[in-house]
Amino acid sequence: MKTRTKVVVIGGGIAGCSTLYHLTKEGWTDVVLVERNELTSGTTWHSAAQVTNFGMNQTMVGLKTHSINLYKELADDPDYPINYHHADGGIRLANTEEQMQGYRHFASMARGMGVHFEVLDAEECARRHPLISTENLLGGLWDPMDGDIDPAQLCQALARRARKAGAEVYRHTPVTNLTQHKDDTWTVHTEKGDIDCDIVVNACGYRVNEVGAMMGVHHPVASMEHQYFLTEEIPEIRDADKRMPLLRCPISDYYCRQEKNGLLLGFYEQDCKTWGMDGIDPEFVNALCPDDLDRVTDVLEGAFERMPALMEAGIHTIINGPITYTIDGAPLVGPIPGKRNAFCIIGLRAGLGEGGGHGWLLAQQIVQGEACYDTWCIDPRRFAGHSNVELTALKAIEDYQNEFRFHFPHEHRPAGRNAKTTPLTPVLAAEGAEFTVVNGWERMEYIKPSPDFHPPLGFHFDNTFGVVAAEVANVQNNVGLAEVNGFNRLEITGPDAHSFLDRMFCGRVTKKAGRVGLGYLLNNFGMVKGEATLANIPASDRGGDRIWYGSAAASELHDMDWLQLNLRDDEDVQIKSLTNEQTILVLAGPKSRDVLSEASRGDWSKAAFPWLSVRECFIGYAPATVLAVSFSGELAYEIHVPNASLYAAYLALREAGKEHGLQLFGARAVESMRMEKGYLHWKADLLTEFNPLETGLDRFVKMDKEDFVGKAALQKQIDAGLKHKFVSLQIDCKHAPAYGGGSLMDGDKVVGTISSGDWGHRVGMNLAYAFVLPEYADIGTTTELDLLGERVKATVIEAGPYDAAYERVRS
Ligand SMILES: Cc1cc2nc3c(=O)[nH]c(=O)nc-3n(C[C@H](O)[C@H](O)[C@H](O)COP(=O)(O)OP(=O)(O)OC[C@H]3O[C@@H](n4cnc5c(N)ncnc54)[C@H](O)[C@@H]3O)c2cc1C
Repeated sequence: MKTRTKVVVIGGGIAGCSTLYHLTKEGWTDVVLVERNELTSGTTWHSAAQVTNFGMNQTMVGLKTHSINLYKELADDPDYPINYHHADGGIRLANTEEQMQGYRHFASMARGMGVHFEVLDAEECARRHPLISTENLLGGLWDPMDGDIDPAQLCQALARRARKAGAEVYRHTPVTNLTQHKDDTWTVHTEKGDIDCDIVVNACGYRVNEVGAMMGVHHPVASMEHQYFLTEEIPEIRDADKRMPLLRCPISDYYCRQEKNGLLLGFYEQDCKTWGMDGIDPEFVNALCPDDLDRVTDVLEGAFERMPALMEAGIHTIINGPITYTIDGAPLVGPIPGKRNAFCIIGLRAGLGEGGGHGWLLAQQIVQGEACYDTWCIDPRRFAGHSNVELTALKAIEDYQNEFRFHFPHEHRPAGRNAKTTPLTPVLAAEGAEFTVVNGWERMEYIKPSPDFHPPLGFHFDNTFGVVAAEVANVQNNVGLAEVNGFNRLEITGPDAHSFLDRMFCGRVTKKAGRVGLGYLLNNFGMVKGEATLANIPASDRGGDRIWYGSAAASELHDMDWLQLNLRDDEDVQIKSLTNEQTILVLAGPKSRDVLSEASRGDWSKAAFPWLSVRECFIGYAPATVLAVSFSGELAYEIHVPNASLYAAYLALREAGKEHGLQLFGARAVESMRMEKGYLHWKADLLTEFNPLETGLDRFVKMDKEDFVGKAALQKQIDAGLKHKFVSLQIDCKHAPAYGGGSLMDGDKVVGTISSGDWGHRVGMNLAYAFVLPEYADIGTTTELDLLGERVKATVIEAGPYDAAYERVRS
């Protein structure tokens, strides 16, 4: 066994084997995998091993395409062929029009990744799957690439190729402890000796937290028991001239695929169970949980009704095994928060199908620092301090019970709510607030017109349209008050703070005391990594000179990580998080200055406190820091208040606002207004797949600056020519907004992808943003948006159609 290597991957299931293989493909061959038993002795060996191309966003679709192509290549390898039923096809069923709308959207989204799903009616579903009835069926989504693979052979094939390239695999080598050294390297302690390495990867499946604990980390991953059975031979299958397509059913919560001449039927029962919450028996190896078909009778009934042939079939094997879940259902693949040189590929609930792609994206991150797709949807840093196994277990149960029922737009499910709140949460709830969840925070969406107001789930505009319009109108005409909680707030101090930030940002960093600026951070490839507001707060009785760095609520761990990683030993800079201590109250609208002047002493006139200023003050008697910035396009102030004083500040503003028509507004109104101003959202419009010039941020890029992170790479891209352009669009549709991922078409050619969409209530337009091929970016160019299966006209317009001269913001 080696005593020193570059990377140690811990765990020999699909996650570990795929990572090892892809590390060698990236050119790192001095790498090792250690497995406590035999390869695939965790969950992988008994997986139903379906391999679908379906994903909820383009990154997931892209990584699954990689799996499918890789598995096909492995299956076709004459030296070591493996069993892969490639492209049998599969159907996701639907019995409501809203589910069908979703499938039409997913088909539009996948098209941009070169994947062609078809939306079928009920008769066509039954024609493609001769065993199903069309009772209570509207139709389905056809995935032509769906199939299944032999999981053990797959892992052996990946390990074999990795070994051939130079990697080593040590079986029966349990990891017993981990030590991190001062230089961030590691020693992996195993029962067979120690291995020193630069980087460790946790790929330990349901034992993720045993190994997490060895490095002092608590991963938000919980396991659920999951059962399937295999039937005896079914004559209709035996006699069919082709294999049966796969089925996934959100109506009765099962999946089904052909296994030999019978069926494999898997269940997602409502009466489901977590597993291993109080520790896992060390002897649980190649093992199963006791089967319990009584739990799944409700699901079985639905499956029998759909496939009457099942009723005659005997059951010959039942499998019940643990499957891992995370808070939002997507895995955790990437850097481990708070650790250096440590990565994970965990929380995989469909790991057999996805594992090829996840290992591919992880290896790129380890070797190159970034992957070819934006990996935020699987980034372990997307959950902040609230994420733990207890919360995950609640969300896992909810997710399991809804396995094939995708989240609708604006759907916020009830499990694990109130993970993060402020003193205002119950106050706003009493006012009738509807809440959404942002990184665990309960954020107000809008005020419900009545307590029993429940908009339907779907993709069309609904009865919230008028509610949001009224909130926007009050902001436009009078003044609105919104709570923005969880906003990432870092306090950056030290003599080198400005020069450090100057190196991190691709634009000019304002150094003037009392002033505020907006800027962008690039990665080493010159692509957009982050967006932040910088406010220079002069020394006061509250502290010395400080810079407040503000960015999106979910970016808390991500941004801290990126700043810390780039901080040099010779730079005297301190970075402290204030995210959980401060909350923002936004006062927006033409009368916001009047309200602020009444609630707080001092001169708030335009001359004394112009746009892009920052000042400390009191709101009533609540200490506050006010920034003159606007995300709504109206005269507006961000009022940052310590949580202990938040309620006091809120009461003072409400009191002062009474005579000015102050009303609450929520995140939905903000979303509409920011689209009218051309403002961007991190991880919707700001992605690592595009550079700042492709994202339309030209005025925030200063190539004449001495240096900044990503400058050389960006220069290369400028020299080579931009591949995309960011545009604002007017969508010719009155009944539905554009959705992120939607494809813009010129005939049959995909020429762009939507990043955001919403109705602009002040301009009366259906607005969207998109990344398009450069030749489709000129103002006035029209393309067709594939919007829920309809082709609707999309016209490129000037960005920010509301108050283009910025008169209201500066007033
Ligand atoms: C019944 C069932 C059906 C499923 N069906 C499908 C499906 O149809 N399609 C699909 O895509 N997915 C399916 N899945 C999910 C899929 O099987 C899993 O997502 C996947 O197998 C997880 O792989 P893994 O490598 O993350 O974990 P595992 O396979 O559990 O591998 C982890 C490995 O780490 C090792 N390990 C743990 N601790 C240590 C240590 N201290 N030292 C060294 N090694 C250690 C373990 O021994 C184990 O081999 C199913 C799961 C179940 C339970």
